[in-house]
Amino acid sequence: MVTQLSSPKTQRDWPKIVRDFEVALGKRSVTRRKEELLVYECDGLTSYRQRPAVVVWPRTTAQVAAAVKICDRHNVPFVARGAGTGLSGGALPLEDAVLIVTAPMNQILKVDLENQRVTVQPGVINNWVTQAVSGAGFYYAPDPSSQSVCSVGGNVAENSGGVHCLKYGVTTNHVLGLKLVLPNGDIVEIGGTVPEQPGYDLTGVFVGSEGTLGIVTEITLRILKSPEVISVLLADFTSVEAAGATVSAVISAGIIPAGMEMMDNFSLNAVEDVVQTACYPRDATAILLIEVDGLPAEVAASRDRIAALCKANGARQVTVATAPEERLRLWKGRKAAFAAMGKLSPDYYVQDGVIPRTQLPYVLQEIEALGQNTAIEWPMCSMRGTATCIH
Ligand SMILES: Cc1cc2nc3c(=O)[nH]c(=O)nc-3n(C[C@H](O)[C@H](O)[C@H](O)COP(=O)(O)OP(=O)(O)OC[C@H]3O[C@@H](n4cnc5c(N)ncnc54)[C@H](O)[C@@H]3O)c2cc1C
Repeated sequence: MVTQLSSPKTQRDWPKIVRDFEVALGKRSVTRRKEELLVYECDGLTSYRQRPAVVVWPRTTAQVAAAVKICDRHNVPFVARGAGTGLSGGALPLEDAVLIVTAPMNQILKVDLENQRVTVQPGVINNWVTQAVSGAGFYYAPDPSSQSVCSVGGNVAENSGGVHCLKYGVTTNHVLGLKLVLPNGDIVEIGGTVPEQPGYDLTGVFVGSEGTLGIVTEITLRILKSPEVISVLLADFTSVEAAGATVSAVISAGIIPAGMEMMDNFSLNAVEDVVQTACYPRDATAILLIEVDGLPAEVAASRDRIAALCKANGARQVTVATAPEERLRLWKGRKAAFAAMGKLSPDYYVQDGVIPRTQLPYVLQEIEALGQNTAIEWPMCSMRGTATCIH
């Protein structure tokens, strides 16, 4: 959230401010209509709502700079917004503020396969980047579960990660350079087209700064060569602790899977009800999804070793999917876990915890006990429990 200090009670000449925006961006890129503003009153953290005073939709860096300069001139706070899927209220407007929405800036500006980089506007949807280069055997690694709807600009601001962050890192590890508009409207470029530039790591400072340092208008991303082979293992367990212990065992064995995620019985059944993958064992207390990728021999060796570790830690069954459609089916459920909870309850509060790997079994046991001892009653349903997904 980029704001400039001002009193909430400041009297503003909104008609004049709107006219300035209309001159700079065009009439259709500005709104003050209440019903349109309603769409922007919250992001994915729906418990907090606040309608902005004005919404603007710039399409170029110059227009973003012009919009920010107007805010600066009129001493109006502003907040940047991408697709509005954030879960921490970062795109929540302030009262009496301008919301600068970069979603319409959705062009892929340059694909440079030779040097493995792609330059995009901030409104480009995360998985469009992979779609743009997959035909040539490349992909963009950061893959938040919201990747089919969230924007790269939002990913940069939140330093988003996903299933593959275990092996490939989060957004900051894949951003080479940024063009951005500072809170006074100046346009600057930081980083570049190669990693590890000399001087201060300003790109590292900006990525993850949650929109507080400026509005990003162009992003140069690193893309990776697609692995030759990918396999996904599904292991099912009769205890959450055993699944947690397996996570520790795999990492301790020196294997870094491309992704490793866990779902408890509550979560996997919620997902099966909605997505119907037909591959999650509904009677399992917990399941682990473990992806390995690389050269064929490397994948085969890791796959066998992981399957053995799962069995040694009490897995009832381990199944392996290598065909793309089978792998997607296994991941589809996990990726839909958040949305699936909507069927169970009108409200769902997500907590991201960071737990030392060796403490996983203990913490999971405690979470399960808390869930069992906490009854929640709603008019429409009565449920007991917590849903746990781990990555
Ligand atoms: C179902 C679901 C699953 C999710 N899964 C994951 C996950 O696996 N991993 C994960 O990390 N997150 C996840 N998220 C959270 C969210 O999708 C990510 O944080 C995502 O990066 C937000 O992108 P957005 O375009 O929606 O940003 P918004 O919500 O619009 O904005 C997020 C922040 O970025 C700032 N911002 C937006 N655009 C710009 C810009 N151009 N310049 C500067 N600042 C800007 C905003 O001011 C705000 O502070 C999930 C959310 C949902 C709803």
